[in-house]
Formats: sequence, C-alpha cells, structure tokens
Amino acid sequence: MSVPQRFATHAVRVPILTYHRVHAYATELKKSTPDLTVEPGTFQAEMEALHRAGYRTVTQRQLFDAMYGGAALPPKPVIVSVDDGYVDDVTEILPVLRRLGMTATFYVITGRTHEQGFLSSDQIRQLEAAGMDVGAHTRTHADLPVLPAARRRSEIDGSASDLRQILGHPVYWFAYPYGAFDPAVVAAVRRAGFLLAVTTKAGTTASTSAPLEIPRIHVGRSATAATVLGLVAGSGSGPQPSAGSAG
Ligand SMILES: [Zn+2]
Repeated sequence: MSVPQRFATHAVRVPILTYHRVHAYATELKKSTPDLTVEPGTFQAEMEALHRAGYRTVTQRQLFDAMYGGAALPPKPVIVSVDDGYVDDVTEILPVLRRLGMTATFYVITGRTHEQGFLSSDQIRQLEAAGMDVGAHTRTHADLPVLPAARRRSEIDGSASDLRQILGHPVYWFAYPYGAFDPAVVAAVRRAGFLLAVTTKAGTTASTSAPLEIPRIHVGRSATAATVLGLVAGSGSGPQPSAGSAG
C-alpha cells in the first residue's frame, strides 16, 4: 500500500531570488539600505542572464501544485520575488519581466498603498493583470514575533483582507518582514489562510514539511549576472548571499 499523500513529505528544488528596490540609488530621495537597492541596468542583466541560461519563472500556484500535487515544473525553474511594494515594481521591474516573458511574486505592505514611493491599489491590480503574483507582507512591515497577539493578527489577517479587497479574491502567499518568525507567527499565518510563506533563510528547496518556512536567496546590490547564475545553480560560485535578515 502506498503512503497516503497527506502523510508524504515532498520537497521541490526551486531557487527563489529576493529583491527589494530596483532603482538608481543616487536618485533615491529617502535612502534605503544600500545593499537592498539594485541598479536597473544590473537587474535587467541578471534577468536576461537567467533567461538566456534557460531558467523559466514559475508562479506560486505552480510551486504549490508541484509540492502538493506532483505537477511538473520547467527543467530549470526559478521564482523572482520582490519585497516591500515599492513603485519600482511597476516602473523598473515589470517592463523587464514583460519583455522577457517572465513573472515574479510581489510581496506588498498593504498599509502603505497611499504613501509616496509605494504601489497604489491600482498598481497592485496592474501587476496581477500582467500575470504577476501578489503576496502579503503585513500592513506596516511589523516585526511579528515581538507583537502582542491582537496586533499580530491585525498585521497578518489585516493584510490578507486588504489584498482580498484590492484584488477581489483571496491571496495565499506571504512573506515575513525582516524574515522574522517563530512558531506562534507561523501558526497565525496558517490560520489566516496563507498556503506558502517565504523567509530569508538561505536555501533552494520548498518542502511540504514546512510550507510556511520556505527559504530564499538574497540578491544584493553587489551581485552581477554571473553571481545570480551561480546562486540559482547552487554552485557556490561568486559572492555568497549576505547573512542579513532583510525582508
Ligand atoms: Zn520587507
């Protein structure tokens, strides 16, 4: 007798790259952490290199179906993820992805849709209409493990309901601000209905044993196209991702 599917652990190797800002750092009005800002030309070169090397982006739904249903993925799957919902997502990142026929997952901070420099509700809908995934990254980019339970719920459930409002359907994908989580946070994310959640733990394998603790690969400012190719291949060539917990 075969092991019932629900008791089987299934792991899928999919490198998930993490970006934040793609923007000319010299022109940033409010300076972000420099390592989190990738220059537009560099981002474009990294995406072109991935595409040329045969990597194909997959959606969160494809990853979920591969993990839980054994669905086939392209031979060289990769996920591009972008945290924090800066307006760069539509001005710098989306045009590059569209030109190359690639997709990405954008984790947005739903309490910032009226703030200058961040995606508006219309722009979030624009990303989805272009075939991109939209995920939640809380309402205020809160450090979830230190919050009292009620505020934690408002950050997690609130971002889920905000996105349901904006997009008109439930959203199942979540990213922890600062990569910070503990068992209580993971339980709250699960209760809110999220199916997959990403961290800033370094790694390239998503497993049904911890679908709400999926590792990613940070791509910093100093990375080049060659670095990124090395990171997704897991060859260890080029500079290693920084051990920081940006998210
Ligand atoms: Zn973040």
